[in-house]
Amino acid sequence: DTIGANLDRAVAAWPDREALVDVPSGRRWTYARFAADVDELAYALLASGVAKGDRVGIWAVNCPEWVLVQYATARIGAIMVNINPAYRTHEVEYVLGQAGISLLFASLAHKSSDYRAMVEQVRGNCPKLRETVYFGDPSWDALLGRGTPVPFEELSCDDPINIQYTSGTTGFPKGATLSHHNILNNGYSVGELIAYTEQDRICVPVPFYHCFGMVMGNLAATSHGACIVVPAPSFDPKATLEAVQQERCTSLYGVPTMFIAELNLPDFASYDLSSLRTGIMAGSPCPVEVMKRVVAEMNMAEVSICYGMTETSPVSTQTRRDDDLAHRTGTVGRVLPHIEVKIVDPVSGVTQPRGTAGELCTRGYSVMLGYWEEPEKTAEAVDAGRWMHTGDLAVMREDGYVEIVGRIKDMIIRGGENIYPREIEEFLYAHPKIADVQVVGVPHERYGEEVLACVIPREATDPLTLEELRAFCDGQLAHYKIPSALRILDAFPMTVSGKVRKIELRQRYGTE
Ligand code: ATP
Ligand code: MG
Repeated sequence: DTIGANLDRAVAAWPDREALVDVPSGRRWTYARFAADVDELAYALLASGVAKGDRVGIWAVNCPEWVLVQYATARIGAIMVNINPAYRTHEVEYVLGQAGISLLFASLAHKSSDYRAMVEQVRGNCPKLRETVYFGDPSWDALLGRGTPVPFEELSCDDPINIQYTSGTTGFPKGATLSHHNILNNGYSVGELIAYTEQDRICVPVPFYHCFGMVMGNLAATSHGACIVVPAPSFDPKATLEAVQQERCTSLYGVPTMFIAELNLPDFASYDLSSLRTGIMAGSPCPVEVMKRVVAEMNMAEVSICYGMTETSPVSTQTRRDDDLAHRTGTVGRVLPHIEVKIVDPVSGVTQPRGTAGELCTRGYSVMLGYWEEPEKTAEAVDAGRWMHTGDLAVMREDGYVEIVGRIKDMIIRGGENIYPREIEEFLYAHPKIADVQVVGVPHERYGEEVLACVIPREATDPLTLEELRAFCDGQLAHYKIPSALRILDAFPMTVSGKVRKIELRQRYGTE
C-alpha cells in the first residue's frame, strides 16, 4: 500500500472511530473527518503548485496539523521534510537549501521560539522557498481555500515521500530519504507486534518530527484503526500523564528520559493510569531499573522496547507481548518479521557467532533509499549488499534476543581496555542517590581516556560524592570501569528527540 491507500482502508473500516485527539485544544477527528481534512489539504497543496516529488518542509512542534500535513503530502507523493523544531536560523537555512524546499509549514511560535520571525530572517537566502504557511494563522485558511477536488495521481510504494533527519546525537544530523514502503510497513509491523486494534488510544509525547512519533506513533496507529492522542506541543511530564488519564490511553510512548521524568513527578501517584496496557520505550538505552518501574508502577505490563534508527524506518528489533520480564526489560527483543540482522566485527566485517559483540547490520524493506543528495555518506552507511551499518555494538544471544552494548562512537578506551558506558550506567541506576546518570570518556594523559560519571541526583540538597560512588562500585565492577571523576548536574544536554548528547558532555568536561 501507499500511505494514502492505507488511510482509505482505515476510513472504510472505522469511519466513526477517533483517529486524532489534540488535548491542549480539545479538537477531535474521527477517521472519516480526518481523511476528509487530509484530502482538503492535499487538494490545496496541488492547487498551490506542489507536485509529486516536490519537497514540503515542516518545522513545527506537535499539533494535529502536523499529522494532517504528513498524510496530505503522502497522498500526493510530495516529499515531506521533517525539520527539528529546536533548529534556529542557521540550521533551518541549511535544510531549506539542502532539500530544496518550496513550501514550508511552520508553527507560529512556541515558548521562546518565534518561528515566523526566524523564517522572515532566512527567507531572502532561500530562493526556492515560495511560501510559508503557519499553523493557527490566516495563512493556513488561505491555503485551504485554494483547493478544489481532483483525482489523485497513481503513486508507487517505492517513491520517496519523506526526508527524516537523524537526531544529531553524535554529530550533524543526516537526512534519510524514505518511501511509503519503508515507513508504512514498519509502522504497521510495530503496531502488529503490540496488537493494536481500533480500541487502542496511543499517547504520543515524543516529537512528530522524529521517526518515533510519525512512524511508530502515527503510522502504527492509523494502519490499525487506533487513535493518536497529542498531549502537548512539546514534552511535558505532567501534561503527558494528564492526557493518559483524561483520554483513557492504552499505550504510552517515550524515550527513557521521559519515563524517568514522569516517574519522578512529586504527584506521580495521584494519576489514574489504569487504562494503560502497553507502550514503547526506545531511542536510547532503556535502563532495566526504569523498565521495571514502568511495568510495575505505570500499569504497562506489556511495554515494548524497540531498537532502531531513522535510516531503517526506524525499528529493527522489538520485544513481544509474551516476553517474560527478564527479556522485556533486559534486551531489545527479537528481529522484526521480514528484516535481517547480523553482527559483524567492525574492523574485519566478519560475521560474529552468537554471544559475541560486534556492529549490528540490518537489511530488508526498512533500509532507507539513501541520504538525500549525499551519495558518499550513503555508501559509507549502506554497503553494496544493501546492509545498513548502524554504528551500534550489539550481541545476538543464543535465544535470538538482541542486546545493545553501546554505540561505537561512545566506547571508552582506557589504557587499552574497551569500556561500554551502558554497563556502568546500568549498574549506577541502582544507587539510591542517583536519579539519572550518563557515563562518558574524557581525555586523560596517561590512560588516553578516563571514565566520567555525570549524575542528576535524586535530592539536590544531598548529592552523591565521588567517594560514595567509588565505594558503591568497589568490588562490583572491574577497577578500570569505576568512574574516576564525577559531575553533579541539574540536567543533561539533550536532542529534541530526548536523547542525551554525550558528545556535548565530553566536550564540556573533557578539557578541564
Ligand atoms: P545521529 O545519527 O544524528 O548521531 P541518532 O543516531 O541518535 O543521531 P536516531 O536515528 O534518532 O539518531 O537514533 C538511532 C540510534 O538510537 C541508534 O543507532 C541507537 O544508537 C539508539 N537507539 C535506538 N533505540 C535504542 C534502544 N532501544 N536501545 C539502545 N539504543 C537505541
Ligand atoms: Mg545515528
